[in-house]
Amino acid sequence: MKRILITGAAGFLGSHLCDRFIAEGHHVIGMDNLITGDLKNLEHLMQLERFDFYHHDVTKFVHVPGKLDYILHFASPASPIDYLKIPIQTLKVGALGTHNLLGLAKEKNARFMIASTSEIYGDPLVHPQTEEYYGNVNTIGPRGVYDEAKRFQESITMAYHRFHGLDTRIVRIFNTYGPRMRLNDGRVIPAFMGQALRGEDLTVFGDGSQTRSFCYVDDEIEGIYRLLMSDYTLPMNIGNPNEITIKDFAEEIVKLTGTDQKIIYKPLPKDDPLQRQPDITKAKEILGWEPKVGREEGMRKTFEYFKTLSKHELQKTEHRDFSDRNKK
Ligand code: UDP
Repeated sequence: MKRILITGAAGFLGSHLCDRFIAEGHHVIGMDNLITGDLKNLEHLMQLERFDFYHHDVTKFVHVPGKLDYILHFASPASPIDYLKIPIQTLKVGALGTHNLLGLAKEKNARFMIASTSEIYGDPLVHPQTEEYYGNVNTIGPRGVYDEAKRFQESITMAYHRFHGLDTRIVRIFNTYGPRMRLNDGRVIPAFMGQALRGEDLTVFGDGSQTRSFCYVDDEIEGIYRLLMSDYTLPMNIGNPNEITIKDFAEEIVKLTGTDQKIIYKPLPKDDPLQRQPDITKAKEILGWEPKVGREEGMRKTFEYFKTLSKHELQKTEHRDFSDRNKK
């Protein structure tokens, strides 16, 4: 049995990762400061002997007694609305938090994985994005706090790998969706699902011609798991290459939810990437991985999840503040 520390454990991906390692028979220590995470995502694990929860902010010194085999650093705000609300925490968890956890990994001789992101490619000028593309990021834009923290996170991880010989993995995660996404995080899928369930119009930003490629959470977790178990130490894209415009996606959501919502248009937020699609050649060749769940099936499962939320929870949704977002 391995002992694994997962930061951001109460978040969307973190909680699914906890489930996966518990299912594999391991001991999981979930850590979260609960700024954006929700303990509800871990409720079902709390009674297990093989699961511990530490309420801790990883930007402060991290102490975990006993051995650790793997450390997975998945703590971070991960939506544009969060970067605006908590920009400094976003920078700190990617920078200081990663430094603390690398120190812990070195001390415990543990394998270390960071959750990097397609955001390190910025508004990409190369399409689809291969791991060799260096990106096109606005350092001081609204997304800069996330993008640059993630880029720093990759740099310091490679520095520990090269200088200290630490065993490291870097996964570049593209847009992922599924049950346990936070309804009010402002991202497009919870936004559209919430709007459909409340009977509101669907808000498409810009003219909706920008693209994204959405990966169902089960596929994403499988890819992450395989990368961790492989011996590949350079960054790897894990995402679903099936690309769609946001306008077409909104129309799919209207069909799926069986509502007769209208689609309305709002200004495109600053630095919103115009296109995004992962090149997953490496994941296919090295991990034998590719996504299996199509958008229709994945969205149906995700909608089922959002339908289980109470009326009260549905009303709590916040909307993005465009005026702020478009400021210099
Ligand atoms: N988006 C939209 N309506 C919304 C929320 C988001 O049209 O209510 C757009 C957004 O401008 C972006 C895309 O959907 O082009 C994906 O946004 P999200 O915040 O989910 O992720 P990211 O931009 O980080 O990929």
